[in-house]
Amino acid sequence: MIQERKLIPILLAVLLFLSTGFFPIEASYGETKSNAAIAGAVSSFLMNTTSNIGGLQMTGINMIPTGEKINWLTKHNVELQSPSNNNPVKVPIVTYHHIVTNVGLTNNIIITPEKFRSDMEAIKKAGFTTILFKDLVNYVEGKGQLPQKPVLITFDDGYYSNYEYAYPILKELDMKATISIIGWAVGETKHKVTGREIIPRFTWEEAKEMIDSGHIDIQNHTYDMHNPRDQYPYRRGVLQKEEESLEDYIEAFREDVMEFHHAIEENLGNDVFVFVYPHGEYNDLTEELLVQLGYRVTLTGEHGVNLITRDKNSLFKLKRINAGYKLPSEELVRRISR
Ligand SMILES: [Zn+2]
Repeated sequence: MIQERKLIPILLAVLLFLSTGFFPIEASYGETKSNAAIAGAVSSFLMNTTSNIGGLQMTGINMIPTGEKINWLTKHNVELQSPSNNNPVKVPIVTYHHIVTNVGLTNNIIITPEKFRSDMEAIKKAGFTTILFKDLVNYVEGKGQLPQKPVLITFDDGYYSNYEYAYPILKELDMKATISIIGWAVGETKHKVTGREIIPRFTWEEAKEMIDSGHIDIQNHTYDMHNPRDQYPYRRGVLQKEEESLEDYIEAFREDVMEFHHAIEENLGNDVFVFVYPHGEYNDLTEELLVQLGYRVTLTGEHGVNLITRDKNSLFKLKRINAGYKLPSEELVRRISR
């Protein structure tokens, strides 16, 4: 027992040496927090702001039979890599939110269709292949392979602009993305409590069309735990309220997550196993609860590229890289290539 205790600091020192020696550290703690804070603040802004979106142009539906999706990577002649504990795979995840045609409305998380296209083309040109989270889980479980340079494109909140602008571009470029949606807001144009106009969200029908194309996956961003940080009486994201008992909190969290989980699966027919933390708020308890509820992947707002191994734990608390309007596409590629 005593000997084991003596070994622990030595092991920690060795681990520290190995991790700093071989893997570049993506971001300091300070940078991580500030990025999460920015994402939270702007996300609150999006949730509470009216937006004028003109020109609702639909493109044709390009259906791909479900069976075709399975062998997509091999069919497209993508060079594959197999799981190995010794060689973690670098997996960057890019974050987007809303898309507008008016450049004047762009910011750190609102971009134009042209900027989105530019980012996607740059990512593709740099040799990256977009994958979905099921590809990542399959890889970790030894059931599948990954392309040499995998990347995940994610959209948060389920804005109609994703359907209107991003989806056609992704189809055209033969790329994939995952959209995490907020339950109460699906198909809505007004806030459930205040009645104020919100940025419109796509409907279940539009979500289904995107899922069936094979280019889009839809995952869980809570039914109703996506509220601004400091707006009483709301909780901060999924966190426990001060006046709430632990028992009540756990019940509320489970109920929110699982009711919407089942709603997504019923409406869209896909597997739900990815949880995207609203405003990046999470802790050890939420991680534990999500594991209990069967979630395989959790996404934070923290900045960085992920190192994925065959260890299932490497799929939790995943970092992301935000792609704002003013971040040049080449710089985005540089950040996901680190
Ligand atoms: Zn969000």
